[in-house]
Amino acid sequence: MNNRQIFLSNLAQTTDFPLLIEVEKAEGIYLFGPKGERYIDLISGIGVSNVGHRHPKVISAIQAQLDKYLHLMVYGEYVQTPQILLAKAVCDTLPDPLDNVYLVNSGSEAVEGALKLAKRFTNRREIISCVNAYHGSSHGSLSVGGNEIFKRAYRPLLPGISHINYGNPLDLEKINDQTAAVILETVQGEAGIRVAEKGYFTALRKKCDETGTLLILDEIQTGFGRTGKFWAFEHFDIVPDIVVCAKGMGGGMPIGAFIANKEVMGVFKNNPLLGHITTFGGHPVSAAASLATVQILQEENLIGQVDTKARLFKQLLIHPKIKSIRNKGLMMAVEFESFEVLKPIIDRAIELGVITDWFLFCDDSMRIAPPLIITETEIREACRVILQAIDQAS
Ligand code: PMP
Repeated sequence: MNNRQIFLSNLAQTTDFPLLIEVEKAEGIYLFGPKGERYIDLISGIGVSNVGHRHPKVISAIQAQLDKYLHLMVYGEYVQTPQILLAKAVCDTLPDPLDNVYLVNSGSEAVEGALKLAKRFTNRREIISCVNAYHGSSHGSLSVGGNEIFKRAYRPLLPGISHINYGNPLDLEKINDQTAAVILETVQGEAGIRVAEKGYFTALRKKCDETGTLLILDEIQTGFGRTGKFWAFEHFDIVPDIVVCAKGMGGGMPIGAFIANKEVMGVFKNNPLLGHITTFGGHPVSAAASLATVQILQEENLIGQVDTKARLFKQLLIHPKIKSIRNKGLMMAVEFESFEVLKPIIDRAIELGVITDWFLFCDDSMRIAPPLIITETEIREACRVILQAIDQAS
């Protein structure tokens, strides 16, 4: 037993090229290694640390809740104030009639809840999702994922799923009166930051209304200010039937939610068929951290500064090897010729103290999604390093 080698299986699961940076401490936009190395974090734990690492108000909210209680009981049995306050704060950011919040643990779980809710509400079984979508890693969320390579080994997955091309209005014809829900990322993240036209969203909303189909928007990567609005769908003047969120919601703590109106969420309430049950969903410490996160985003006007900061990145990142930059706010993809060109640049940037990476389904583009608290000076420093890395990478 003593000689047994122990593996942490989370490590290096999703890629052959793990960054494997050892982190001792994180603060603001910085990660610190055990030997005093300092890195600018331009990926925020994949869109999580929108308010920065260990924001003092998030830490105080967590500490205050630690003094009160941790887990009490499976969600829904006791009244827990952090959950109630969080639900109210989140609903205040949403348009009518989205006012019923179901708190869960993660993005994948939020997607599961939303899909179950859509099936129950519509009494239909068919779900439409998008090619190259990423919605999570559990069986249901994987089923609506849009990349066959990642799904193949786990078949059979959920039946009744078909795919359309994100952003293509012609494909909306596939939505019909058998469709329970269409689920899509408002801005496709892991596909390498793809943004559909406003007209696409208007047509999608109309088609869902005509066919009685629920529109589920996955705002797991786009929500909580990332794109320059609290929710990315605000850019497109539509209101979804169900919103799913997680990641940036917790300010670094695990929490997610699916949110709908009273009528839709009503099918999960007070009925014997069980809606969704989650032991730790909406954990009071995470809920307290999340409430602080919503307040920080509003009090520090972080969302209002997103566009200016994104523009600065785009102005500075000019180089013959950069083919294009796709973005919605501070959700950016910097395109290179290929992964073979990009990978040494990422490696060199890390050596020089700036962390970026690539996307699950798009490996020729550099992911840039910094904490929204990043300052102009820090953006200038990060971009200078990236340009230097491009010149030095072999
Ligand atoms: N949807 C989107 C758009 C995501 O980016 C992710 C995570 N990368 C998920 C769902 C799944 O979230 P989680 O890893 O918290 O289950």
